[in-house]
Amino acid sequence: MLLFTPGPTPVPEAVRMAMAGPTIHHRTPEFEAIFKEARTRLMRLFGMDECVVLASSGTGAMEACVTNLARKKVLTVNAGKFGERFGKIVQAFGLEHVELKYPWDTPADVEDVKAALADDPDIDAFCIQVSESAGGLRHPVEEIAKAIKGLNPDIMVIADGITAVGVEPIDTTYIDALIAGSQKALMLPPGMAMIGLSDAAVARIGEGRGYYFNLASEIAKQRKNTTAYTAPTTLIIGLNKVLEMVEAKGYDRFYRETRARALATRAALEAVGCVLYPKTPALSMSAVYDEEANMVRDILKNEYDVNIAGGQDHLKGKLFRINQMGLIPPYESAWVVNAVEWAYDKMDRRPYDGTAARVFNEIYQANLS
Ligand SMILES: *Cc1c(COP(=O)(O)O)cnc(C)c1O
Repeated sequence: MLLFTPGPTPVPEAVRMAMAGPTIHHRTPEFEAIFKEARTRLMRLFGMDECVVLASSGTGAMEACVTNLARKKVLTVNAGKFGERFGKIVQAFGLEHVELKYPWDTPADVEDVKAALADDPDIDAFCIQVSESAGGLRHPVEEIAKAIKGLNPDIMVIADGITAVGVEPIDTTYIDALIAGSQKALMLPPGMAMIGLSDAAVARIGEGRGYYFNLASEIAKQRKNTTAYTAPTTLIIGLNKVLEMVEAKGYDRFYRETRARALATRAALEAVGCVLYPKTPALSMSAVYDEEANMVRDILKNEYDVNIAGGQDHLKGKLFRINQMGLIPPYESAWVVNAVEWAYDKMDRRPYDGTAARVFNEIYQANLS
């Protein structure tokens, strides 16, 4: 079965092998050496001054960023399930909250953000997704972050890059915290989150807030290549391996392949009549609006051994989402779009003629060179 859900993503065999060794103790020079290497690689991936890893799913890192970086009032962008979640975290901690709400296919508008900030000098943190996975949407995060810092450099810009870090290069010049999760673009099993931090963020964190998710305690320990509490050693070994593989390929090549696969998948799907859902599609996944999405997913799973994701909430049964994150062989993606074309044939939408695979191959090759 090909796992083509936008998280969890398949774990490469070399990474699974690296994680299959005996458990090592986390307070040892052996582990510290591995963690040091992984940290160095992680900072290169983020392109940021500091980073921390947390033994939690991605949501834990979202919470840690809100509690450690916001003080009074937070502006959040809600264009899907994960943007909505930032708002719920802010409220759970009793912080004041302003939300910019958009339909799930619509990116945030920099002018709306500026207007919200102009109205409210108490806002000291801003939260947004880079790629909002609910609708496969890419927000113009870099542009918004720049505008925010132009208005007030003290506002902390928190970007959830869980389906963006490791997918495309992200300009972190104006971003204070960039969040990644193990089970999405980093091709690891679930259970670990990572945060890239700016110097300004480290300064704002100060003594930190909370206990387990106190980022000050983690920064202090992780700078010494250890963690405040028991480290997720197996996942860190896996992270070190996966980043080693990506570095061996080279980031330019890695990002170019992901982009080529995403553009080729999009073009192939559109060529057989699929309607892409978001107005600004992310490279991390292809989200297709389809009233019979469940039938497409069932046919793919039962007849072509392809597992893709559906939609959530009001898009349940009306969306199917195909992953692009990770080191995915292009022949697997070519099979997936081919399977969608076969499904449409079986659903009497359009007779199969091999268009999807042909278009995929053409566009993939055109974007690789
Ligand atoms: C998956 C995901 C998360 C975090 O989810 P967890 O289940 O807590 O790992 C957060 N934001 C986005 C955009 C995601 O895709």
